Amino acid sequence: MLFTALIAAGLFTITPSIAGTVRQIAASDNAVTIYFDDVVNKASVFTLSGPNRIAVDILGGTTGGSAYAGGPIAAVRQGQFAPDTARIVLDLEQPALVTGGQFSDDGRSLKLNLRQAATGEFLGSLGRRLADIVPPLGFRASPPKKQYEVSAPIGRGNDSKNLPKIHGPSDERLPLVVIDAGHGGHDPGAISPHDGKREKDITLAIAKSICDELVKSGRVRVALTRENDRFIILQDRFGIARKMGANLFISIHADAAESQEANGATVYTLSETASDREAQKLAARENKANIINGVNLGGADSNVSSILIDLTQRETMNVSADFAKLLLREAKPNMRLRSNSHKFASFVVLKAPDTPSILFETGYISNANDGAFLSSADGQQKVGRSVASAVQVHFARRLASR
Ligand code: ZN
Repeated sequence: MLFTALIAAGLFTITPSIAGTVRQIAASDNAVTIYFDDVVNKASVFTLSGPNRIAVDILGGTTGGSAYAGGPIAAVRQGQFAPDTARIVLDLEQPALVTGGQFSDDGRSLKLNLRQAATGEFLGSLGRRLADIVPPLGFRASPPKKQYEVSAPIGRGNDSKNLPKIHGPSDERLPLVVIDAGHGGHDPGAISPHDGKREKDITLAIAKSICDELVKSGRVRVALTRENDRFIILQDRFGIARKMGANLFISIHADAAESQEANGATVYTLSETASDREAQKLAARENKANIINGVNLGGADSNVSSILIDLTQRETMNVSADFAKLLLREAKPNMRLRSNSHKFASFVVLKAPDTPSILFETGYISNANDGAFLSSADGQQKVGRSVASAVQVHFARRLASR
């Protein structure tokens, strides 16, 4: 809710007069030219797959005018992605990439250089910006008021030969869900101050139970980031999901609190603004999993490229929030939930820009009832069933809305 409120607050402060309107878009074999009736602020280019597309976000732009496909581009579509951003989508007949581009001297037209690419090269471009192009000084619209932006390293993932096994039907058209058992190896996660129960053991057992229930449904494919007691850095957890092209990422955790009274499950989705202090502190604790002897393993990797994911991620965040609500609905009859059970915070493990992701804190291992429930085969199966039925409804809805 808080996230929605922030976005809305941002939207109402946009001044429409700064926007240039698209007059015409023309594609040829090696270029796409976009003409505007006034100055705009910036153009950002990125790729999307399934089907292959190139998207051009025009900051300080509004949609309009006519469009002509050509060359590798089968169709040109436009949509007002946000009040301050026109999105132009180029449907590709064959894989192609934008290698750069330039605004005209008066800032009224933008030429993007296009070249055909191999499928592998195109897929390799997913998740990062191909180009950010700004008009010449003096012919640039003033930047729209900043709404929402986070930056995140992209998980380096593993080599594909190291990717986890896929459980369930071998039909590649079925959606893939990646279940992430939190912590592992030298990182035990939370430890119950009362009986020494370790989060890493509970999360693995629950992840396996969710996997079993999902496989039983026969409607999705499932992979686990770990199937044994080993350590994985946070970026590699969502990196695995991205490498495998997962449609949903679910990270399983179990908290411990000083107070034995604290109990119930919470679902978290990503926001740079935490919904409360407790959510913020929890995210800080979970994000510490990467820090070993003072060295931040997640930040030490030179292969990790940083990108700005403000616009792409907003869509992903909405889908994640919808799934969070669905999960709470399905879990309610089966397990104890906290009264304020959907919260937001900046968890590293949720930062894949293009994979809807949630973090499920299944309860408090420091609470006698929750601890017994989460350690029991019956409790683990109840959590598994809750997640599995939410996953099924989620994909059924997404299929229906297409
Ligand atoms: Zn945890």
